Amino acid sequence: MNSFGASLRRRFGGRVQRVSVDAGFTCPNVDGAVAKGGCNFCDNRSFSPSRRVRLKQVREQLASGIKTVRHRYSKVRGFIAYFQPATNTYAPVDQLQELFEIALNCDPEIVGLAIGTRPDCVPESVLEMIQSLALNHDVSVEFGMQTIHDAGLDWMNRAHNHDHMVNAIDRSRGRGFECCAHVILGIPGETHAMMMQTASEIGRLGFDAIKLHNLYAVHGTPLGEQVLAGEVQMMERDVYVQTVVDFLERIPPETIVERISGDAPPDFLIEPKWCLEKSKLRLAIEGEFRRRGSRQGSHYVAPDVSPSTRPRPADNTPESIRQSIDGRGRLPVLKMES
Ligand code: SF4
Repeated sequence: MNSFGASLRRRFGGRVQRVSVDAGFTCPNVDGAVAKGGCNFCDNRSFSPSRRVRLKQVREQLASGIKTVRHRYSKVRGFIAYFQPATNTYAPVDQLQELFEIALNCDPEIVGLAIGTRPDCVPESVLEMIQSLALNHDVSVEFGMQTIHDAGLDWMNRAHNHDHMVNAIDRSRGRGFECCAHVILGIPGETHAMMMQTASEIGRLGFDAIKLHNLYAVHGTPLGEQVLAGEVQMMERDVYVQTVVDFLERIPPETIVERISGDAPPDFLIEPKWCLEKSKLRLAIEGEFRRRGSRQGSHYVAPDVSPSTRPRPADNTPESIRQSIDGRGRLPVLKMES
């Protein structure tokens, strides 16, 4: 696998760690801009539009995260500020820029930004602003693609479809920042063949990086209730290992693999428990590659049309989201105080 750690070492000449930041965003799939309730697996009870974020708190979160990582690893070359919870491009664009610049400049050891968002929440104004940051900094945008199948997206209550993902990546590629796809394996109703179709889309659309997650259920979510009621089953560990290897064999060898599983704190996690043993899971996946004598990209088939020549389409961001980001809507969602 072209692992994330190795790719960071190549880029920065040493170990680089992500430090998570909660900047107080909500999500258009929670506040009603495109839907309410959020994704069925997401514990979004805290994503209140009235959350107040103090810039000082963002700086404090980064300082405290850096301190914790330094305590754990003696040789760290730098840190990436990772805007992780909720939808981190869902705010007026001038506020987003101010926030990201504060994160980039609050500590000389911060070498880059990672921004988690939805594919329907990156209008042109946001992409242009991120592109300008990427001129001088290492920036990654992580899109919640999850699957290319709209039935699965509907089952999760994502409130966007795969067309939004295709539109977002076709407008994002080539702007100087990394484009990462977040994918979930084990969505009920998806066959092995359907998951492999999602794998083929990674190369077709030209993503730079991928994060693979097993579907997992936590308390306090609609999915958690369904799992507790026995209505939904999670993937078995052995099936997951086989599926991950099949998936990685079908993506380009140069795609950076940032994650190969997902989990939650043990107190919150309902199923599957096997995802808590991350090191064993990684060893099993690596062992399966060895057993097959294969590697990432072994069965990759390059698309007929190179991703870099795909035309940039018109922006299909929903109007309700665009208005909020352009500062004309009923938000601001991000209330910043010095
Ligand atoms: S889009 Fe992301 S933040 Fe919003 S509800 Fe879904 S998982 Fe949660």
